[in-house]
Amino acid sequence: MEKKPNHSIHCTVKSCANHNKTSDYCVLDKINVGTHECNPTVCQCVDCESFVLDNCSKGNCER
Ligand code: SF4
Repeated sequence: MEKKPNHSIHCTVKSCANHNKTSDYCVLDKINVGTHECNPTVCQCVDCESFVLDNCSKGNCER
């Protein structure tokens, strides 16, 4: 069953299990954003730490 999109969290990462799939939104109530750098300076330095790889993107999709 499709989970309800959270229109406060726009996201285009369709390979994430928390992505709504039919619209570019996350389905979580909140996400955690962090960084893998000690001194982040550009947007590429920050990450969604709530990302979970979708089963379909692992090649195990039954859809
Ligand atoms: S958890 Fe992060 S990467 Fe995954 S859909 Fe939500 S905002 Fe996007």
